[in-house]
Amino acid sequence: MAAIPPGERRRCSLCQVEIQGMAGGVDLVHFSQGAPGTRAKLWARVCQYLRSDEQKGQCLNQDQALRGTVVQSDFYAEAPIVDFSSMGGEAPGTNPAA
Ligand SMILES: [Zn+2]
Repeated sequence: MAAIPPGERRRCSLCQVEIQGMAGGVDLVHFSQGAPGTRAKLWARVCQYLRSDEQKGQCLNQDQALRGTVVQSDFYAEAPIVDFSSMGGEAPGTNPAA
């Protein structure tokens, strides 16, 4: 599957998102909600769940070389994971004496 030329947008008819070709190959994915993301994020949230070869044939984001490396944060929400242990105390609501 060919890369999308810079400046062009293609809609993935299955995933219902638009992928915008970017110079340098890191394409921008316009989700229906939230901030634009990467192909890796799109794949983690949507495209990996496609099962049939027919579906995969229609999806614009099945090429591993184009989507790059999928990292764990691609699978979850935008908010960072808060580590309460680094704040010098227990998480709120866990102290029975309070
Ligand atoms: Zn897709």
